[in-house]
Amino acid sequence: AKKAVLGPLVGAVDQGTSSTRFLVFNSKTAELLSHHQVEIKQEFPREGWVEQDPKEILQSVYECIEKTCEKLGQLNIDISNIKAIGVSNQRETTVVWDKLTGEPLYNAVVWLDLRTQSTVENLSKRIPGNNNFVKSLTGGANGGVHCTDVTNASRTMLFNIHSLEWDKELCEFFEIPMKILPNVRSSSEIYGLMKAGALEGVPISGCLGDQSAALVGQMCFQDGQAKNTYGTGCFLLCNTGRKCVFSEHGLLTTVAYKLGRDKPVYYALEGSVAIAGAVIRWLRDNLGIIQTSEEIEKLAKEVGTSYGCYFVPAFSGLYAPYWEPSARGIICGLTQFTNKCHIAFAALEAVCFQTREILDAMNRDCGIPLSHLQVDGGMTNNKILMQLQADILYIPVVKPSMPETTALGAAMAAGAAEGVGVWSLEPEDLSAVTMERFEPQINAEESEIRYSTWKKAVMKSVGWVT
Ligand code: ADP
Repeated sequence: AKKAVLGPLVGAVDQGTSSTRFLVFNSKTAELLSHHQVEIKQEFPREGWVEQDPKEILQSVYECIEKTCEKLGQLNIDISNIKAIGVSNQRETTVVWDKLTGEPLYNAVVWLDLRTQSTVENLSKRIPGNNNFVKSLTGGANGGVHCTDVTNASRTMLFNIHSLEWDKELCEFFEIPMKILPNVRSSSEIYGLMKAGALEGVPISGCLGDQSAALVGQMCFQDGQAKNTYGTGCFLLCNTGRKCVFSEHGLLTTVAYKLGRDKPVYYALEGSVAIAGAVIRWLRDNLGIIQTSEEIEKLAKEVGTSYGCYFVPAFSGLYAPYWEPSARGIICGLTQFTNKCHIAFAALEAVCFQTREILDAMNRDCGIPLSHLQVDGGMTNNKILMQLQADILYIPVVKPSMPETTALGAAMAAGAAEGVGVWSLEPEDLSAVTMERFEPQINAEESEIRYSTWKKAVMKSVGWVT
């Protein structure tokens, strides 16, 4: 059959905490043409430890690329139209590779892992004066090319986010030899070519940490524009333009993106929630009250209320704005009447309350409250969650019809790179993406009462471990 011609296509690897995906977009409209997804195993060798197998991750990337190319073939789409590939990845998850053999020395230590807590406490004692020394500087590949981009580097605590270089003083402080660190490049330039497989020879020309990728995919290019991504955790990022803003309310300062070698760097304020989608996965894997994540919506819908039950999923302590490692998860307000549907509802509400906490902190730091919230990520397919979020924030929630914004951002960065030049980063290029809006439906007083009860529940979760 004659293969359809669509103009330039761009692929994106989205290597997330729960799964790996490869997606192919039309660079003229941002239409998602095909994709493939593989769930990633998580290992919990001890309480508080979270690991993944780096080889499984790598293998899943190859598998997703090959399967997507097969699917495109079935759609009569010629894969030679794929002009570039972008990569977005979990941030802070760390692997050390043997330079000579290319083998990982150990499993990947995932961003949720708590094993270094005592190391952090000991290091904090050695920080001269107070921890502003670290905070003010940091804001909080393999097979030939060993590089990363500024957004990923900015999450290591070894990178100076002002000079955009590995910082000698920080590396000495943390006792990390600088020579083992990858080269740091912009988020949009050709880093190398695919070495094998169906897309051999295609340039890899976009690289962004997942949350930066979502910010780009949501076109939050202006100072004050923000998005919240609902995946394993929740990550609210607000573009602060070319200046570093330091938070007074528990948020982090991070590099947002630098879309080209000669382009300026943009910064963001970030509020993070450790456990969002992960609580749904926990209800599935540990309690078995659902078989798939999607089923949570059906359970919650059956009751339409938590019936006074509150669920604080502080499995790995509380992140922003509390930063409370002593917290642990609690379910409270239970009565004889409470059933699994109420707990399901409370789990969804917990995601919304935690987002409200970081949005409040963001509004205080930025001075101008957000008038609406742009959202994306795996959980945003859940309509009950989206409505609850609008009710609890008491501002409209706006969701793109295509929730794969992280991948889209990586694809945009790859397509816009010098030497590729198939994506202009103008709003016209997103004509296939429409927006869905959720307006608050409860009254403001009820919203406030529920939020203040949640805060009471949070206080009960704090100080559980010492
Ligand atoms: P990540 O990028 O962190 O891997 P994703 O954006 O892929 O995360 O979202 C996956 C997470 O969202 C999982 O934790 C899953 O439990 C949750 N999830 C997926 N679909 C739904 C749904 N319909 N309702 C609630 N949670 C969901």
